[in-house]
Amino acid sequence: MDFKDKVIVVTGASRGIGEAAARYLAPLGAHVFLAARSAARIAEIAGELNTRGGSARAVACDVSDPAQVEALIATATEKIGRLDLLVNNAGLIDPIARLADSDPSAWGRVVDVNFKGVYHGMRFAIPVMAGRGGGTIVNISSGAATSALEGWSHYCATKAAVLSLTRVADREYRSQGVRVIGLSPGTVATRMQEKIRDSGINPVSRLDWSAHIPAEWVAKAIAWLATEAADPHLGTDFSLKTEEGRRAVGLPEI
Ligand code: NAP
Repeated sequence: MDFKDKVIVVTGASRGIGEAAARYLAPLGAHVFLAARSAARIAEIAGELNTRGGSARAVACDVSDPAQVEALIATATEKIGRLDLLVNNAGLIDPIARLADSDPSAWGRVVDVNFKGVYHGMRFAIPVMAGRGGGTIVNISSGAATSALEGWSHYCATKAAVLSLTRVADREYRSQGVRVIGLSPGTVATRMQEKIRDSGINPVSRLDWSAHIPAEWVAKAIAWLATEAADPHLGTDFSLKTEEGRRAVGLPEI
């Protein structure tokens, strides 16, 4: 895909995978809108990208609030009127706890961000995309969408719910040019994995740090999913855990 002048929104862009995606896409000529709650941090990243010739703008946004997500999409589309790529990346895993030890309000907060946050993004992006020439929505998923891990009931359940949203949105809007696709990146060296490691609660927490892929690889995969080459995977979770998945994206072998 030629990213020149494409309008892109990345949620959870203050660190980790979202920050890497913004840093990868801005130098390709796209107009990148970075969204997260940490307003100062996204402003700093956007400022840095702009000084290097990119076009980036920070929009403070809590994805659990539909009004803030609506305002984010409106801001991103107000000038050019199009939205080419939405990366629904914002997500939480903490607090990690077995079901009987979990705090209902903290558990619900993860539902509000991981699941409803993705719904909010789709809810406000789809009308713009379907009405104006299509677009791509990449929902950052996880192997947890289809597997069970102790201490992660909130995370497994919300990622499974997001996979369901990916399937339904593809069914409803593919014919209108809206490409919806999930991305299961495998384990990635970000702050989320630090939290998982510190929990010590399941086998993922005991992985050696070298097992995690860099966030930049996931950024490259997101860009690839925006191209027609990824069309056979629409409406599914594309996985970077397989050799063939990594090869398709052009990532090194591990
Ligand atoms: P991370 O480093 O902890 O970053 C999470 C991002 O989400 C931050 O930018 C954070 O920004 C943002 N965020 C959290 N709550 C938010 C909210 N309410 N509204 C807006 N933004 C919010 O984690 P990461 O590893 O990059 O994770 C990114 C995505 O990849 C998540 O969906 C995660 O589930 C998924 N994933 C990660 C891994 C992995 O191994 N790391 C594996 C599979 C899937 P603020 O705190 O500034 O709001």
